[in-house]
Amino acid sequence: MERTAYCGQITSKYKEQHVTVTGWVQKRRDLGGMIFIDLRDRFGIVQVVFNSDKNKEALEIAEKIRSEFIISVQGQVIPRAQGQENNELNTGEIEIMAEKVEILSEAKTPAFEISDTADISDDVRLKYRYLDLRRPKMQENLKLRHQVKKVFRDFLDGEEFLDIETPYLTKSTPEGARDYLVPSRVNQGKFFALPQSPQLFKQLLMSSGYDRYYQIVRCFRDEDLRGDRQPEFTQVDIETSFMEKEDIQSMIEKLLVRLVKEVKNVTIKAPFKRLTYKEAMERFGSDKPDLRFDMELIDLNTIAQESSFKVFSSALENGGMVKGLTVKGAAKQFSRKNIDALESIAKIYGAKGLAWMKMTEEGLTGPIAKFFKEGDTGSKLVETMDAEDGDLLLFVADNKNVVYDALGALRLHLGKELNLIDESELAFAWIVEWPLLEYDEEAGRYNAAHHPFTKPVEADIEKLATEPENVMADAYDIVLNGYEIGGGSIRIHKRALQEEMLSALGFSKEEAHKQFGFLLDAMDYGFPPHGGIAFGLDRLVMILAGENNIREVIAFPKNGKAMDPLTDAPSVVSNDQLIDLGLRLKDKETEAE
Ligand code: ASP
Repeated sequence: MERTAYCGQITSKYKEQHVTVTGWVQKRRDLGGMIFIDLRDRFGIVQVVFNSDKNKEALEIAEKIRSEFIISVQGQVIPRAQGQENNELNTGEIEIMAEKVEILSEAKTPAFEISDTADISDDVRLKYRYLDLRRPKMQENLKLRHQVKKVFRDFLDGEEFLDIETPYLTKSTPEGARDYLVPSRVNQGKFFALPQSPQLFKQLLMSSGYDRYYQIVRCFRDEDLRGDRQPEFTQVDIETSFMEKEDIQSMIEKLLVRLVKEVKNVTIKAPFKRLTYKEAMERFGSDKPDLRFDMELIDLNTIAQESSFKVFSSALENGGMVKGLTVKGAAKQFSRKNIDALESIAKIYGAKGLAWMKMTEEGLTGPIAKFFKEGDTGSKLVETMDAEDGDLLLFVADNKNVVYDALGALRLHLGKELNLIDESELAFAWIVEWPLLEYDEEAGRYNAAHHPFTKPVEADIEKLATEPENVMADAYDIVLNGYEIGGGSIRIHKRALQEEMLSALGFSKEEAHKQFGFLLDAMDYGFPPHGGIAFGLDRLVMILAGENNIREVIAFPKNGKAMDPLTDAPSVVSNDQLIDLGLRLKDKETEAE
């Protein structure tokens, strides 16, 4: 019995036709003499009826069928009895009257019901991922992922980009995160690294004249995991030669406008908003601000200076700052207990406390209001914070990073809690004008804020040796709804500048040559000006799917401990394997099988 149609596609236009469908049994209802089966495939569900009056043999087989059996059914598409239609299904007006049925595969009772509403723990879902992936939402998510990739490919192909693969077994180079290492059997004692990104290879391709390259490629970073991070993840990696950053940005905008139109039928406008890194931090306390709602951070340094409130003035004396949030109309809703809960969020980000006041008809109230009764600090505060009757005012006074992180996190928390976010909105923006370097207190040296191949802005190049902290980068990130979905830059293409940059990062000449000699040498043979960007595909699809963990858009992800409960990877390997590789585990030999 060869399949003639997908279950989920049998609408009333098939009426009276004979069809053969195959699928998984979602549900079976036995009414005695009559059995109904909901049969599922990746397009949806169709109802199949077995009736002893019409076909006794088929009914007898149907009696043996259970959930998740795979069956093949031949029958006639007929209208459902009046009143039995199901508007929620595509196929809700019809059913298939079974004439012939075959059991293709039997199934044990699954560990959980195959439905979007089943409440299943994450590890159970991952252990039985093959069952979990049967759920309609997962099928939808993976289909969306496919569609997103297809739009990227179609668009980039239309713009003359070539898809070129780069190696997975490559050299360990410092790119920011920890590498995954692969020991070499042939060259014992030596290791490959799995790429954190194809950054250097795509730059080399530019030198070889492939002036528009892209790749949908797996990247590997051994980092602590979060909801939007996995040890292996997928980038849409793009590089171009001879394009200015504005041209790259507008091409990417065209791509994203097309993407959301095609996959979500949402029309967005380009050009997108552009915020400098500084502005994003100052206004939203984040370098990936969620722009779907306002509630911006308010600078209160001048008022803090004039006020007699010690916590504020001493933060300033210590070189810190004071900023606040006006939470409109929230005064009544937030009892002291609720405010304590907000304070504990601020504390996660290092704040020592969360100061607050409420604006009432009588003016400012709350434990610190008395400090704002003298002089005109109170009225200035009310004016600066645009405080009206019923508003809750929150304050953090600390060093810059703590103030931004704590208030940025509170802003996001309150945006969600107070339903200030329009979930259907897609708020894209570019974050531009990044610092080139960031100082690592612990290591006592500078790190590249983006990566070591990003070009300093032309006007700042001369400051690289003298005041590196003030050098800005030709870099840009693209953010969507509070997530960084991509980042890129114009690259250094001249050897002398690349060497200078590596020296600013603390590499000696020898070390720079050892790590990046191949790139530096290539720069001696004609290297075009170039730049590019990479998108985090998983994150982008996650947002478009309305999910909040990238696991939901990856077929076989790792769990929060960087393990795969399905295959049990990573696993212990045999001693023979280790010997082949010339490796010995420290204190662990007895565990190896
Ligand atoms: N390779 C960079 C990254 O993975 C992106 C880029 O600059 O194109 O962050």
